[in-house]
Amino acid sequence: MPLLDVHCHVDLYRDYAAVIREAESGRVFTLAVTNSPSVYQRCRELLEGTQFLHAAVGLHPQLVADRHQETNLLLELIREVPYVGEVGLDFVDAPPDLRRLQQDVLARILDRCAESGGRVVSLHSRRAYTETIALVEAHGPGTPILHWYSGPLRLIERAINAGCYFSVNAAMLRSDTGRRIIARLPSDRVLTETDGPFVQVLGRPARPPDVADVADQLAAVWRVDPSVGRAILARNLRKALGLTVDLWSSDSTAPEPRPR
Ligand code: MN
Repeated sequence: MPLLDVHCHVDLYRDYAAVIREAESGRVFTLAVTNSPSVYQRCRELLEGTQFLHAAVGLHPQLVADRHQETNLLLELIREVPYVGEVGLDFVDAPPDLRRLQQDVLARILDRCAESGGRVVSLHSRRAYTETIALVEAHGPGTPILHWYSGPLRLIERAINAGCYFSVNAAMLRSDTGRRIIARLPSDRVLTETDGPFVQVLGRPARPPDVADVADQLAAVWRVDPSVGRAILARNLRKALGLTVDLWSSDSTAPEPRPR
């Protein structure tokens, strides 16, 4: 059965080579997000020859203070890379001038995504929920995916109207606020993620095949069979990527996404 992990920091595992092999042999569609454009280039090399893992080019909001000089390199790479992330805003411990800088950088990123014909974008939005969604509304970057959304319930509808998907992980399913959010999400906008190696499962960093358990728990929330839950998630991914073909049926090449 198809599995998908749309937010995993593959390059940050100590045993990344094993993580890559495992995801590939388990046929887990894995979006390998990166935290800076210089790291992206190395990550792409690591994933060469894989069918199910895709490197995304990003600049983590918590690194913007130190690395915003890499923004131009990021903007160049977005022209040629269909996947973007991890990008976004993080207002925890960010004074007003840094908040402004993060918003300027994100606006330029989303603008470049739109200009490049749309990109699949994995977004961080901690304590900056309204601002992140407002930038998505203003720039229409393609397919925005709110990763580990933890904001107010009242913004969910607004995010959906802005075209957002939500990627859900094991930590969200363990928390009351996370479960309240999940209960509000329409099943056709939900995707699964690990956010590994940061999120733990069973006392160790989550790895891409662990999304199987997230998918099963989502199926329980939706009151459908696990197989139906996975079919829903696979259909959502196909739509999010703008694909007409099934990702798991083609045996040779990974199709290029065409978000919006
Ligand atoms: Mn992350």
